[in-house]
Amino acid sequence: MSRLLCPKCHRPLKTCICRFITHISNDIPVIILQHPNEVTQSKGSLTLLANSLSQCTVIIDEDFSQNEQLNQLLAHYKEQAYLLYPHKQAIALSFDKFNNSAKNQEDKIINNNNICLILIDATWKKAYRMFMLSKNLQRLTKLQLPDGYQSHYKIRKTSVINGLSTLEACCYALSLLERNKKKYQPMIENFKEFNQFLLSFQKRD
Ligand SMILES: [Zn+2]
Repeated sequence: MSRLLCPKCHRPLKTCICRFITHISNDIPVIILQHPNEVTQSKGSLTLLANSLSQCTVIIDEDFSQNEQLNQLLAHYKEQAYLLYPHKQAIALSFDKFNNSAKNQEDKIINNNNICLILIDATWKKAYRMFMLSKNLQRLTKLQLPDGYQSHYKIRKTSVINGLSTLEACCYALSLLERNKKKYQPMIENFKEFNQFLLSFQKRD
């Protein structure tokens, strides 16, 4: 018997994840760079993210140096394209109002209304490889999340950077950049339920 697929999330109807989609109009456009191996491994969390945000582009590649789609976007955003990636020169985002130099740097980013946020969706090892191969990514200003965020991602421990899934990292970074603590919370809540849903299938197997 052929398995019927959901036209939206392209998963078998029994495991359709569309009810976990939270439609949110993000002010800052998001670009997700996905490793080719991650396409079959992501268990639907990136589908969830891409369908939830109003402005989200997913590009699949490993070495992005010559990736035309990304390079066109980088040419458009120029210095206003920011990569969320743990790095010694990364600017740490925060909700604090302390007036130090890092804070001034961060305020400059937040007050600019034509920025875009880039994230890498891959295992930590693959993300590092993608970064090292892609000269165009190395040139970007890096941002990182403050410590202390707890992950609700129970399915794949190995696929996370800083312990967070791409969906969670994206939500937290957007809420910090848009200075809005509540806006992305419904997405996180639905993500928790999505995890429970996936776990219920794992237990049955
Ligand atoms: Zn669906």
